[in-house]
Amino acid sequence: MARRAHGRALRLHRNYTVDEAARVLGVAEGSIRRWIKNGLPALQERKPALILGGDLSEFLKSRKATKRKCKLNECYCFSCRVPRQPAFGEVEFLPLNATSGNMRAICEECSTLMHKRVSVMKLDELKAILAVTITQGKERINKHA
Ligand SMILES: [Zn+2]
Repeated sequence: MARRAHGRALRLHRNYTVDEAARVLGVAEGSIRRWIKNGLPALQERKPALILGGDLSEFLKSRKATKRKCKLNECYCFSCRVPRQPAFGEVEFLPLNATSGNMRAICEECSTLMHKRVSVMKLDELKAILAVTITQGKERINKHA
């Protein structure tokens, strides 16, 4: 499987200085320094500090994922890499315990099966906006071709 890098010129196996990384990604050098403080791995014993392209790519990916939170009626689609609405407004809810369960739905864009942990307290809210089927563990949802 080919790995896609974020940013047109970002090379996964190249080292970047803060200055170079900023230029490749089109962001301020200050942003890169802040990312390093926030956990972006960098070889800081060297001057200038070096960042591996692959680390940069991973950091941007995880940052993107946490940045966009799913709304109640959305699930994170690992195929589209963004929160998506369930196809046909249909979801399944599989109770896990007294307080929470798994919401399962099909991505309206690419038909990938999506999962999300939902609190039982949110169930009524969910039922108001989506067609919720409560199931007991067995997979009933079908892929709509
Ligand atoms: Zn999708």
